[in-house]
Formats: sequence, C-alpha cells, structure tokens
Amino acid sequence: MKDKEIPNDYGLPIWGGNNFVIERGKVCINSGAKPAILDIVNEIRTDGYRGPLLMRFPHLVQKQIEKLYGAFNKARKEYKYSGRFRAVFPLKVNQFPSFIEILIDKGAAFGYGLEAGSKAELIIAMAYNQEGAPITVNGFKDEEMISLGFIAKEMGHDITLTIEGLGELETILEMQKKTGDPMPNIGIRIRLHTAGIGIWGKSGGINAKFGLTSTELMRAVVLLKESKQLNKLTMIHFHIGSQMEDIAPLKRALREAGNIYAELRKMGAEHLASINLGGGLAVEYSQDAQSKSASYSLQEVANDVVYLLKTICENKGVKEPDIFTESGRYIAASHAVLIAPVLELFSQEYQEKALNLKPEGNPPLVSELYDLYTTINEKNAAEYLHDSMDHMESLLTLFDLGYIDLQDRSNTEVLVHLIIRKALDTAAHLSERDRLQQRIQEKYLVNFSLFQSLPDYWGLGQEFPVMPLDRLDAKPTRSASLWDITCDSDGEITFKTKRPLFLHDVDLSEKNYFLAFFMVGAYQEVLGMRHNLFSHPTEAVITISDEGYQIQELKPSASLLDILDDIDFDITDVQKQLKKRIERSELIPEEKRQDVLAELYLYLSENGYLKTTRLV
Ligand SMILES: *Cc1c(COP(=O)(O)O)cnc(C)c1O
Repeated sequence: MKDKEIPNDYGLPIWGGNNFVIERGKVCINSGAKPAILDIVNEIRTDGYRGPLLMRFPHLVQKQIEKLYGAFNKARKEYKYSGRFRAVFPLKVNQFPSFIEILIDKGAAFGYGLEAGSKAELIIAMAYNQEGAPITVNGFKDEEMISLGFIAKEMGHDITLTIEGLGELETILEMQKKTGDPMPNIGIRIRLHTAGIGIWGKSGGINAKFGLTSTELMRAVVLLKESKQLNKLTMIHFHIGSQMEDIAPLKRALREAGNIYAELRKMGAEHLASINLGGGLAVEYSQDAQSKSASYSLQEVANDVVYLLKTICENKGVKEPDIFTESGRYIAASHAVLIAPVLELFSQEYQEKALNLKPEGNPPLVSELYDLYTTINEKNAAEYLHDSMDHMESLLTLFDLGYIDLQDRSNTEVLVHLIIRKALDTAAHLSERDRLQQRIQEKYLVNFSLFQSLPDYWGLGQEFPVMPLDRLDAKPTRSASLWDITCDSDGEITFKTKRPLFLHDVDLSEKNYFLAFFMVGAYQEVLGMRHNLFSHPTEAVITISDEGYQIQELKPSASLLDILDDIDFDITDVQKQLKKRIERSELIPEEKRQDVLAELYLYLSENGYLKTTRLV
C-alpha cells in the first residue's frame, strides 16, 4: 500500500526508524518475511497466554549496535582519527535477563561491554560480560563495591572504576596497598561547568550530583602519583543527561573534557587514553512531526565528537584518545513492544438505541433536545450545540431538585452525546471542534498497567508511540483516551487536542482489538512498579527470518502466588488461611469444598491480568 493511501499511519515514518511497516492494514515487522505482529500475538494467545505481552526483537538490538559503531567508525575514518571507538551498555537501562542475553550475543562482534552503577549490576557484568570487552563502574562506591572491582580485575576483566569523589580514590589506593592486588583501571568523572539537559539533565553543571572539580582533579593526580599508580588513570568521564534534544550541550561538555584530558596528560598521566562521553543519545518517541524529540542524527554526533577531539588534541599536541560511549536508551528502546488488548469501550451506550423516550411524554427540555438532534446541520451546528449544553445544565439541575427522573437524565446524556457527535460529523471546520472531541472521547479500557509498563508516562509525562495492530486500512473515527486496569485515576492516557489519538470504533464481541506501545525497551521495565500488584507482563523473544518468525522464548507473567511471595507474604500461610476459611464456610456444602479449593488454587497459579476481552 502506498503511503498516501494509508488513512492513518500513527506517525510511523517519524518514530518507526523503518523497523515496522503497514501492510494489508496490519503493522508488520520490516524484516525477512515481514510477519504481522498480530499473527504472532494470536499464536501466543492461542497457547493460553492472555493479558499484556512484551515482545522483544533481537534484530533491533543488533541494528542499533551496528548503527552506533558504524557511525563512529565512519567518522574516525573520515577524519583519520587514530583513537579507537569503544562502547559499554549502561545496565540501569534494562537489566532483564532475556534482554541482556540478546545484548551480549549481538555485541560480541564489536567487543561491546557493560556499565554498572550498583553492586547488583556489577555482578551481572562480572558474570556475563563478553571476554575482553570493557566494564565501567559508575556511581557511589563503598569498600565492598571497590573489592568487587578488584575481584573483577583478578578474574581478567578489563574493568575501569570511575571515581565520583576523592574519598573513593583514597579507599581504592588504601585497599591496593593493603592487599597488593592488581589495581583496576581508574576513571575520573569530571564536574562540568556546562549544565546538563532535558528532564533527566541533573547530571551536569557545577552543582551536579557527580564528579570532581578541577581542584579535586589535580589532587587526584597527586594522590595517584604518590602511590605510584598514576599509570592506572586511563579514562575521564562525563554524562550530561538523557534524551538530549540538541547537540550543543554535548559539544560544550566535550570541549571541557578534551582540554582536561590534554592537561592531565601533560601532568604526567601517560596512560590516560580514553574519554567517556556517557550516554544521552535521544530516540524518537513523537508521533507528530511538529514535536520531534531530537534535532540531530547519530552521524552528526559522531562527526562532531571526532572532529572536536581531533582539533583539541592537535592544538595541545597530545595523542588522540579512545572514544567511549555509554548510550543506553539509543540501544534498547526500540527492541521492545508492549501489546495490550482492549477490553472495553466506554461510551458505546451512547448510541441511538440507548435512547428511551417515554411514549407518555417527556419533560419539555428533553423533547427540545430531541428536536435539536434531529434537525442539527452544518449551518446551525454551533448554535444548536450551544443550546443543547444549556438544556443539559438545566435538566441536570432539575434532576438534583427532584423534578425529573433517572430515565429523563439518561435520555439527556444520550441526546447531548448524539448531538455533539453529529456536530462533529457535519461541521469539520467548527472552531469548537477540539473542545468537542474532548467531550465525546471514547474511553478504551486496555488490559495493562501504566505503572508497570509505562512508568515514565506517569512519572515524567513521556509519551510513547501507540497504534492499533490492525484495521489500518480503515479510518479511525473515535477520539480516544486510554484507561489501564489499575484502580488509580492516574492510570489514564488522556486525549490531547494538540496530539490527538484516534482509534477505531470496534465491536469487541466480534473481534479483538490490540494496541501496541512502541519504544518501551529502555528504562520502563525496571522502573515499572507493582501498583495494585500487577506484575511484569508475559515476555516473548521473537526472531525473524525469510521464512517467517520464531517464538524463541516465552516467559509468563508472574503468578498471583509469586507476586505475593515477592512482597514477602508467607505463601504457605496464605494458602493455609484460604483453605481454613473454605473448610469452615457454612455456605459451601461439604462435598463441594474440595472443588472450590481446587478452583482457587488454579487462580493462584495464574497471573493477575484480566482474561476476558469483554467485561459484560
Ligand atoms: C543513565 C546513564 C547512562 C545512559 O544514558 P542514556 O540516556 O540511556 O543513554 C550513561 N551513563 C551514565 C553515567 C548514566 O548515569
């Protein structure tokens, strides 16, 4: 299908990165045999897995890694840059084992390493990092974490501990002196005077949480020299924040870092050979060309970085350093797609058949509303709408005062909705159109938890691309807001008049309707919270070939018992209590108790998401 024939592509060309295409009205994976996501979903559901589904696509991880190394190596070649390009994946972005397994596998050819920011992450890196690939360790460290660094070194890892303060360096040097063990490499996080960027940008600037000032840097060199360990200083590091919109702050930071690098080398740090730019490469989340997330391409970043460093090194007469990056979002975001079934549409009752006018006569205002509804047209739409709003106000007041009954009130609601909808259909140019769409939104109840699966929407207002998996050859007509199944009123993605979401008017008793949220592979999984005790969704790893697709791995969402166990309930006791109460119940006949208990235990072994696609 040609682009212009697609009634609504949900901004796929903007955020999709050619990873997906619309074919035959369905979202398909743009690789190999181009399977439709819906076909994969249906296969998995046939096997009994309901509820939300997180699909991982290893080929998209590979694609991002290749793009990252490709762009920097191209720039190095172009500018005849002699330093190497090296990269580590920051584990905080996604530590889930089925993702890490893909990452290690796809990164092996490049010597792609891992970055750890905590003890638990360091353990993952020590266990799974590709041999010979680098490990960097950022964040605050205590003695135990530093010991872990020494152990990693002894295991043969190429490990660099980035110090965030002088105290850490002192501890490392003392430990080395005491044990005589080989030292891990030392990196120093510098405190930039240029500020960080974006909603995540507290990582830079003179008041930043992390990093050494110039005075502390000079002191660090002295300490290292005194301990005869200056040859272990190999890296300087900075990180200006996540999802950078613009390239300028990175360039400013790099100028600072490049000059600090050159100065430290002049002070005798001869093994200082790497500049680590941290992460921050943005991904495109926007479904609307007007509000794009990033104003640069990866190749521009790579060119600017290489060129800038080359210039600084030439000016200061020092060797060109290896360039390290720690971009995480850029690598992980696109690989995961969350698919959630729509369970219910909430304003379907407002169709003409819901109207129940009384044959014996209706309140005059209700009759007038009915007349407005039957005679509204393009010319009178604005005026009639206005009248109907007034009538509604009056009728609701009459109800509060006890003059009309519940049936009259229901007819009022239905008629006003019908009038708004008709006004929308007849007068596309109405200035009130936006406001109207707000009023007549359809609420789509979606089988997922926003807190568990899109926490950045809840916490930071980060929007994620969303679209239905099929019916893309039909025009979506309903202005939609999305409700999740938590009991929290924050569990809603509201309709935005500036960036409206339109979905299809579907009859769920006839056919399922699935929504897919894209770009959820970075941060969302591990930040996701168990609000209302909803757990991580069922995961599937999908590989694509010229023949079709394969479901490599399927990890069901945690069972109810596992969820309770996870928050430290004694699950043996939970089961004992349930059993006791059933056995004591006078409402369950004795011969049925065993069956009830069996049924209950079956539920305990299943996950907490809803099963049906229809509530009524
Ligand atoms: C969070 C973090 C990163 C990753 O940032 P992205 O925006 O995901 O690329 C890299 N380095 C450090 C030090 C971080 O704290």
